[in-house]
Parts: sequence; C-alpha cells; structure tokens
Amino acid sequence: MEDRNPPAQPAIIPRPEHNISRANISSNALKVLYRLHDAGHRACLVGGGVRDLLIDRKPKDFDVATDARPEQVYRLFRNCRLIGRRFRLAHVQFGQDIVEVATFRAHGDDTEDGDGPTVERAADGRILSDNVYGSIEDDAWRRDFTINALYYDIANFAVLDYVGGMDDLRRGLIRLIGSPAQRYQEDPVRMLRAVRFAGKLDFRLDPATEAPLQRMGQLLEKIPPARLFDEILKLFLGGSAARTFELLRHYQLFGWLFPATEHCLGLAQQPLHPKSLLLQALASTDNRLAEGKPVNPAFLLAALLWEPLQDRMRRHGDHPNDVEALQAAADLVIQDQIRRVALPRRYSLPIREIWEFQQRLTAITGKRPLRLLSHPRFRAGYDFLLLRAGTDEQAAELADWWTRFLALDEISRANALQPPAKGNGKSKSRRRRNRRSTRPGDPIPPSGPDS
Ligand code: ATP
Ligand code: MG
Repeated sequence: MEDRNPPAQPAIIPRPEHNISRANISSNALKVLYRLHDAGHRACLVGGGVRDLLIDRKPKDFDVATDARPEQVYRLFRNCRLIGRRFRLAHVQFGQDIVEVATFRAHGDDTEDGDGPTVERAADGRILSDNVYGSIEDDAWRRDFTINALYYDIANFAVLDYVGGMDDLRRGLIRLIGSPAQRYQEDPVRMLRAVRFAGKLDFRLDPATEAPLQRMGQLLEKIPPARLFDEILKLFLGGSAARTFELLRHYQLFGWLFPATEHCLGLAQQPLHPKSLLLQALASTDNRLAEGKPVNPAFLLAALLWEPLQDRMRRHGDHPNDVEALQAAADLVIQDQIRRVALPRRYSLPIREIWEFQQRLTAITGKRPLRLLSHPRFRAGYDFLLLRAGTDEQAAELADWWTRFLALDEISRANALQPPAKGNGKSKSRRRRNRRSTRPGDPIPPSGPDS
C-alpha cells in the first residue's frame, strides 16, 4: 500500500513544545512505564491517553506500548495477566484499574514466509489474529487513526509522530492510516470507531476515511455479536451518544447494529421528533455523564428497542396492556437483536423489566402504587415513562399522575389512594369490574389514564 511505508524519522515534539504533563498521567500507568524503562525496554503511552491529553481532555484509560514481549512484561509485574488470542496483551492490574500493555506490532504483510507468527486472515481480508511483533514505527503504521498513533516516550517525555497525527489533531480530523477501504475490510469495527471518535471529540472525518462508510456497513455482519456489544457501549456511553447516534444513522451504520429500530425509524420517514423517546434517552445519558452521574445501559437499550417492541405488538394486534403479549413480543425483539449485537442477561433482564413496568405503572388504584414504589426497578420504570410522555399523551397523563403522587408525603400518599367516599351507589364488585375508570381521590388528577 503506497502510503503505509514509515518515514525514516518521526516528527519529535520535545517536552517543552507539548502540553502532556506527568501530573495528568495515572500513577499506575507511570509505574508501568518506569518499570519497563528501568528494565531496559522502550516504553510509551499511546492511543487515547496521548490523544486526549494533547487536546486537554481527561483520558478514559492509559494504554502502554513497548518492545518487551508479553512474556517479558509478565515477568516484570506480579499483578499481570496475559490475555487475548487474536491480539495478545498484558494487563497489569492495580485494584480496579488496569493498564493495558501491548507489544509493538508490525502490520504483517501476507508475503511473509518465515516460521514466526503471521497475521491470520479470513478469505475476505479480515484479520483474525495479529501477533507479528515489530518496531515502534511498524506499530504506528498498523494503528487505526493518525490521532491514535501518537507516542509519549517515557525515556525523554517527547511525543513521537510517525503518521501526521499532530496535524490532524490540530485540525480536528479523523483520518485512517493507509487505504481506508482496505483498513475497514481488515477490521470493520474501525468504521464504528471512526464514528465514535468523530462523535466524542466532535471531529470531522477526512473525506477518504468517510467515503467508504455508507457502502461498507454490511461488513459488520461478520463481527461477533459480543464484540459489537462492547462497541455499542463505547459508542453510547462516551458522553456524546446523541451526536454519535446521528452520525451512525448518517453513515447508514446504525441499521447494521439495530436493524429493527432502523426499520421503525425508516417507517417514520422524517427526522425524529426531538422529544422522541430515543433522542431524549440519548440526551439524558449524555447529560448524566456530564454531571458525573451513573448511567444504566439497560435503560438506554430499552429505549433503543422500544419502537420495535411497540411495532411488534401493534402488528400482532395486541392491547398495549396485555401482559402476556408484551412478554412474548419482548422475547422476539430480544432474540432478533442478539443475532446482531449480544445482550448479556444482566442487561436483557432489566430491559424487559423496564418495559413490563410500563404496564404495571398503569395500575394506580388500591395499594398497588405503594407496592410498586418499593420495587427495585421502579425508578427506571418511572423515568422511562417520563421519556414516553414526550410524545405520547396517555403516557403524559400517567406520568403526571405519578409525578404528583411522588411529590406527596407518605400519609398523603395513603390518603390519596383511599377509595372514593361511601355512598356513591356503586357496589364493590361493580367497582372492581370498572377498575379502569376508578380514580384515586384528591390530589391526584381526576383524568387518570386508561389502565
Ligand atoms: P478510548 O478513549 O476509547 O480508550 P482509544 O483510542 O484509546 O480510545 P482503545 O480501544 O483503547 O481506543 O485502543 C487503544 C489504541 O489501540 C487505539 O488508540 C489505536 O491506536 C489502537 N487500536 C485499537 N483498536 C484498533 C483497531 N481495531 N485497529 C487498529 N488499531 C486499533
Ligand atoms: Mg484506550
């Protein structure tokens, strides 16, 4: 490939000419860098850590690259595990924090005919295993984007740039190293990574990097659902879920991840209502992350798959409050989805509970509202109802009822749920038959929604 040959010398940005300070590097990453260096190895920070520090953002994690082989890294650290087959790595563990240490790799041309490890490829060019070690230059050229291939060298605190990453970082450009179509073919997840970094950093895609996206999305079908699940979490929990979602749709990648959701969005034929459940869920995820609050991925996934659930129930002629119909439809929606993107049970169960809660929250008579309040999924269910209220009038009325109910103290709540005063002429059994029209008393609004 014409432009993949490394230049003889990298651009070297000495310490006084860049802003990376050791004060902003985690002490664990520094420990790893120094120990490798002291043992006579080359040791650099690389990837997102360097990229984010250079643009004054807080890195999510720190990745280390070294000329030490994984086994050598293993021997240097007691708290070290070797992981990965496709891509062998050392994980140095410090409590919850893991510093990932990768050995410099070469891109591994298939022409190699020695006995050493080679890059293993599928017939379609996808790289199945990538364990050919090489020099730091080689390592830079086999990385995905130029802005991800900058090295911070612990030996002299300089930044090394083999691929023009500093310029692209300054210009706000996501540019693949090498020939974009070939690099996407080798690893289609790079398409998602391109969009993820564009969304998260608010960068533009270089035209050549951008051009193949709309026609190459189908390659994502080859990616194992579990890997796509990890990628989905990174796409939507990076703090810019709303923008990333728009980009995924723009580049026609979203439909390869969430086919049923894309189908429903396509049916609407117009830009999503800004108050639509999905856009609101994405925006509130971003807001919560910006405020440092925890987010529940199941909540967002429940929102991503809500329209397919509704669509299935509508097409089946199910009443929205038919419990069994919802459970059956939920099974089908989830089964369908996990053929593309895995949903571990720790997520699929709460997704279903959030959906089921939408029915349970319509039961606003008798003691049921009080019982629901103490349910562990109540908060997520109620928050989800609030999102639905943006575009669904019945949901809005119900959400309003619950909001008022929650605003009451315990005694007022109990009073609010008293049956209507005696002597209204209705027998108990008639009242039960007419449960739908039973309204809790003051101060809950008289026009409660259908249950
Ligand atoms: P984040 O902020 O999400 O951690 P990152 O750039 O550090 O972003 P990682 O997934 O942690 O992303 O990967 C670390 C580095 O490894 C990347 O910066 C890139 O240089 C390289 N890399 C990761 N995935 C690929 C890939 N699929 N193809 C080529 N290089 C990759
Ligand atoms: Mg990283």
